[in-house]
Amino acid sequence: MIPAKGYAAPKVKAELGPFSFERRDPRPNDVVIDIKFCGICHSDIHQARDEWGGSTFPMVPGHEIAGVVSRVGGKVTKYKVGDKVGVGCFVNSCRHCENCTRGLEQYCLDGGATLTYNGFERDGKTPTYGGYSNQIVVDENYVLRVPDNLPLDGVAPLFCAGITLYSPLMHWKAGPGKKVAIVGLGGLGHMGVKIAHALGAEVTVLSQSLRKEADGRRLGADNFYATSDPATFKKLQRYFDLIINTVSVEMDWNAYLNLLKLDGSMVVVGVPEKPACVAAFPLIMFRRSLAGSAIGGIKETQEMLDFCGKHNLTSDVEVIPIQKVNEAYERVIKSDVRYRFVIDMASL
Ligand SMILES: [Zn+2]
Ligand SMILES: [Zn+2]
Repeated sequence: MIPAKGYAAPKVKAELGPFSFERRDPRPNDVVIDIKFCGICHSDIHQARDEWGGSTFPMVPGHEIAGVVSRVGGKVTKYKVGDKVGVGCFVNSCRHCENCTRGLEQYCLDGGATLTYNGFERDGKTPTYGGYSNQIVVDENYVLRVPDNLPLDGVAPLFCAGITLYSPLMHWKAGPGKKVAIVGLGGLGHMGVKIAHALGAEVTVLSQSLRKEADGRRLGADNFYATSDPATFKKLQRYFDLIINTVSVEMDWNAYLNLLKLDGSMVVVGVPEKPACVAAFPLIMFRRSLAGSAIGGIKETQEMLDFCGKHNLTSDVEVIPIQKVNEAYERVIKSDVRYRFVIDMASL
């Protein structure tokens, strides 16, 4: 076994602290990665606090992992020592179900994808530990290649926040001539603005206030409106082809559906605590759709990274030492970060 160190939540709602554990010795298809940076995703906090249920402890969170290959198994063909790579929200899947075969492993039908942390390996009993650590061992088929021109700290959030926005923007065909709204300008939303803009769509940010307007425009937004102003919902009636809703607090989805034009879609990627109440009329009128989307498969995640490389696009990050992770959690909850915390693993 490979001795590893990291930060873990020892039990539910406890602060994270130093933790020693072991990674498996590389199997023939495994890549050993020296983790350089790991992003802090809001879902790390939900899971460390068991807000979604079913969490297991001790938990080493982290699924926005960027690093460098330090060792490879005998049958690895895709990567070599020294390659810049990353790992996202899952590290394995069944590989034979209908969805895995289509490259949509995040929707694996046979036991689900193996989560990078707070999950179990395919044997059903070996816990997985995430990226708040110095090393990780992952099958090469679930490792992503980082374009050479991108810095690893800014790349880390692409593995969750980036793909979470890229996938629906591609699936619902954001591009030239399309009017796209991004609801919420946080870790997810700011990536949505950058990617939708790079795809050539007209991008509008719908944020609670105009506080982040200058930022939004710098990130690529063409328009910026405050949702606290009722005039916004009058003015933008039937305006958008696509709305990506990144907000995880309760809001009136019906008001947003009314901003869609004929055949428009609102795609939900945030998870509010309580179920939303949706009326039939805003959907029936103008043949609108309400949909959801979860991260992306390996093939699409690689596509997203290559797209970001081509457009020189990364996340706006605040790099912190791992000793500040608990403080960072509190700030994420208060939306006090522009726009993603990334842990510098050299601090371990
Ligand atoms: Zn995440
Ligand atoms: Zn599967």
